[in-house]
Amino acid sequence: MPISYYNENDSKGANPDNYFMKQALVEAQKAGERDEVPVGAVIVCQGRIIARGHNLTETLTDVTAHAEMQAITAAAQFLGGKYLTDCSLYVTVEPCVMCAGALGWSQISRIVYGAADEKRGFTRFAPAALHPKTEVVSGVLEEECSKIVKEFFKKKRSPLNPPLA
Ligand SMILES: [Zn+2]
Repeated sequence: MPISYYNENDSKGANPDNYFMKQALVEAQKAGERDEVPVGAVIVCQGRIIARGHNLTETLTDVTAHAEMQAITAAAQFLGGKYLTDCSLYVTVEPCVMCAGALGWSQISRIVYGAADEKRGFTRFAPAALHPKTEVVSGVLEEECSKIVKEFFKKKRSPLNPPLA
């Protein structure tokens, strides 16, 4: 699985990766407003957003309700088919092993993520989970994507709510 690191200088003019990652950040914000860990995702097909999702694990009391899972389901419903072969997923944080598995099943063409997740990210535990043809780009708007999560946990911390790490 070749992962290329995003380089802003590679592109001229308006950068679609930046644009779509900002839309994923809007989704992350929505999760944060519901007191969910702020992770957001969008799926793009032929230059247009066909699905959006944000983390809903608390709201749905479901550990599988990650932003990517919501977006994969919505995209398949929109397209009327389970495969996302001509689609790109933009997600603010590196997908976990579960989501990488689901993205593998979907045969999605491209995955673009912002911040790396050293604790739960798939690149560490299951780099082969994706479809072999899936292209992966990391580091798009990395700082914003990681800041929103860090600030969320900073707010949550109190003597009764100690940090996990
Ligand atoms: Zn996940």
